Amino acid sequence: MTARLDPEVAASVEARLRYYRDLGIYDFYRNGEPLPAAEEPAQAEPVPPQAPAQHVSATVTESENPDLSPRAARSAASQNLPPAQALQALREEIGDCTRCPLATQGWHTIVFGDGDPKTRLMFVGEGPGADEDAQGLPFVGRAGQLLNNMIAAMGLQREQVYIANIVKCRPPQNRTPEPEEARTCSQFLFRQIEIIQPEVIVALGSTAATYLLGVKSSLASLRGRIHTAHNSKLIITYHPAYLLRDPRQKKEAWLDLQIAMRELGLKPAKPAGD
Ligand code: URA
Repeated sequence: MTARLDPEVAASVEARLRYYRDLGIYDFYRNGEPLPAAEEPAQAEPVPPQAPAQHVSATVTESENPDLSPRAARSAASQNLPPAQALQALREEIGDCTRCPLATQGWHTIVFGDGDPKTRLMFVGEGPGADEDAQGLPFVGRAGQLLNNMIAAMGLQREQVYIANIVKCRPPQNRTPEPEEARTCSQFLFRQIEIIQPEVIVALGSTAATYLLGVKSSLASLRGRIHTAHNSKLIITYHPAYLLRDPRQKKEAWLDLQIAMRELGLKPAKPAGD
C-alpha cells in the first residue's frame, strides 16, 4: 500500500530528488528496499570502486608582487581577530583594488567571498561571472545553482560552507584569468583560507586547482585523491559550469565530493520527508 504524501512534503521530496538526479544519482533505498522510481528513467550504473585516497603534498609559492603585503608585514588588523572580523579587515585592506590588469577591464564589483567564516569546508572557483559581478556574491548564476545542489546533496546548506574564487573581479567575457591576475589576486584568497582554516577545500575546475596547488596538471590526473594545500586537504573536481555543459560528468564529481564527505564525516542528505 502506498501512503499519499502531503503536497508540500511531496514538492520538497521532488526538489530534493531533482538535485540528486542533477548529480547523476537515480536509485534510492530505504531499509534496504528500493524506493519508488524517480520520474526520469533510471540510468544508474554501478559506481566504480573508489581508488584509495592518496595524500600528496604541494609546494605553494609566495607571490613576488611588491604591491602585496608580505606575510610578515600583514596588517595587524587582521591578526588575532575572530574569523568574521579578520575577513572584514582583509576586505577593507583590498579596498578598491587596482593591483592587477582586471582593475581596468570593466568589472563592477569585487566578489570577496561568502559563507561561514568558521566552516570546515570551503569551495574555490575561478572568478566571478556576470551574475556574480552584478550581485557581489560568488556562484549565484546557473553554475551557482548547481553548486548549491551539490552542497545540499552533501547534507549541508550553502550558508554552512565558504565560497570564494581565485580572482575577485570578473574577467572580460568570462575568460580564464591571466597568470598575473590569478597570482596577484589569489594571495588574498590564501589569506582567507588562512583565516578560515577549513579542513577541506574543494577546488572547482582547473584554474582553482592550478593556483591552489601552485602547479599545473590535467584535471584528470588530479581528481580522485587528496592533496594538501595551505594546511587544508584539497580535493579537486569539475567546475559546475563544465558539469552544466557535460552532465555525464556529474557522477564523477559526486565521487569527488564523497571523498570530501568522508574526510569530514558527512553522510549524504536524505531526501526530505524520508
Ligand atoms: N564561476 C566561478 O568560477 N565563480 C563564480 O563565482 C561563478 C562562476
